[in-house]
Amino acid sequence: MKQKLLSWAVLAALALATCWCLCFYRTGETRSAFLPARCSGQVLILDAGHGGEDGGAVSPSGAIESQINLAIVLRMDQILGLYGTAPMLLRDADVSLHDDTAQTLREKKVSDLHNRVAAIEAQENATLISIHQNIFQSPKYHGAQVFYANEALSLPFAQLTQTILRETLDPENTREPKPISDNVYLMNHITCRAILVECGFLSHPEEELRLQDTDYQIQLASALTAAWLQLQDTGREEPAA
Ligand SMILES: [Zn+2]
Repeated sequence: MKQKLLSWAVLAALALATCWCLCFYRTGETRSAFLPARCSGQVLILDAGHGGEDGGAVSPSGAIESQINLAIVLRMDQILGLYGTAPMLLRDADVSLHDDTAQTLREKKVSDLHNRVAAIEAQENATLISIHQNIFQSPKYHGAQVFYANEALSLPFAQLTQTILRETLDPENTREPKPISDNVYLMNHITCRAILVECGFLSHPEEELRLQDTDYQIQLASALTAAWLQLQDTGREEPAA
């Protein structure tokens, strides 16, 4: 099992050189953030948490969560493209997804979340990976943490993702996946397989620097992509009942 997980991670890592090239060609390209694409009947939806006026968590040195979330999602999109899979990105720019009628910051946030839920729920056979960064009062906590909604659908994927993150990035990270708390609106209003990955703590000085580092963002994106590819591979191995 460990060998297989690592082999996917290696494959994803090998893709990175090409990924670098692709990012130059894609500069300036425009496409709909709501354009779905399917692979083997599955739709992978990538949610870069927050965006626009809602920056999410801000580190003590001023690093903005929404921008790190987006950077990781865009890397995942590039890597997945090399495997013939085009995920659906809820946002591919630093924007909020609120309706034009929303005026206040609160109205924009509510509208943004409603629109994300609607976009996810409109897809059949969807799997959501929502990307966030953690923050805490104490600077001592660090390490990625996977949360899941809809346990029956999501727990195996959450466990796989947490394992790959540990094996490839942080062997000391002994965290186990946890059910998402009741106060995360998006994760509590969707019905598909869904995980939310807190990639690290912006409140931990060293991890904060890593999370802003392009190479580390690519490593995170590779690990998360490897989890998705491994899940697809596992699904193919299981004969239909
Ligand atoms: Zn967040």
